[in-house]
Amino acid sequence: MAEAWEATVLTLFPEMFPGPLGISLAGRALEAGIWRLDAVDIRDFARDKHRTVDDTPSGGGPGMVMRADVMAAAVDAVHPAQSLKPLIYLSPRGAPLTQARVRELAAGPGVTLVCGRFEGLDERVIEARGMEEVSLGDFVLSGGEPAAIALLDAAVRLLPGVMGKEASGEDESFESGLLEYPHYTRPQIFEGREIPAVLTSGDHGKIKAWRRAMAEALTKERRPDLWEKFLKRKAKDSRQ
Ligand code: SAH
Repeated sequence: MAEAWEATVLTLFPEMFPGPLGISLAGRALEAGIWRLDAVDIRDFARDKHRTVDDTPSGGGPGMVMRADVMAAAVDAVHPAQSLKPLIYLSPRGAPLTQARVRELAAGPGVTLVCGRFEGLDERVIEARGMEEVSLGDFVLSGGEPAAIALLDAAVRLLPGVMGKEASGEDESFESGLLEYPHYTRPQIFEGREIPAVLTSGDHGKIKAWRRAMAEALTKERRPDLWEKFLKRKAKDSRQ
């Protein structure tokens, strides 16, 4: 069997893992050994008897900052400098996570994730260990853990053997640069609303065209930013 995809998470709350990742698709894959998860307590790398991991911000202001020396010791213990895995700090200042990045991560050997708390990490350890900053979106969580769980969930479902049908990842939102078309299933009539007739026509060419048109219309309406990108890519592809 291929080697397991390896996730290491540095956190002040290792008891949050596997959490939701122990259930359903990701949980079964974890049990099957398709991926491994190691949640490591940052506090184990504190240097004093009070196991302090944070201190007051230089320059003043509210909150606490996670110490560079403690964080560096924790990172060095689990992530050798020559590691081929990306070292990611979940951070609202990071590049927003995309399906393309998730695909790259899933194709690699695994990932080391750093979860911040309080005001976040001392800037110097982010620089010194060359951490890639990744954000879940333009909002602020109280800690990196829910973001780490979301990232791992997105990556693990793409690992070979995790999803039932290999194909079921291909059609989805973002994979084609478009949002996905709407889905329907029985009953045929729900509160007076019928399933679009084309979907029950049995004409696969027509169904494909309808789904494509719906995906384009939805993307145009809800995500003009994605629509712009999609049009640009299409124009470029047709010039090549
Ligand atoms: N003072 C910081 C916010 C700290 S929130 C700022 O304004 O930028 C505490 C921790 O939660 C962060 O260190 C980070 O690990 C995590 N976090 C918060 N929002 C996040 C987001 N949108 N994406 C990923 N991680 C986030």
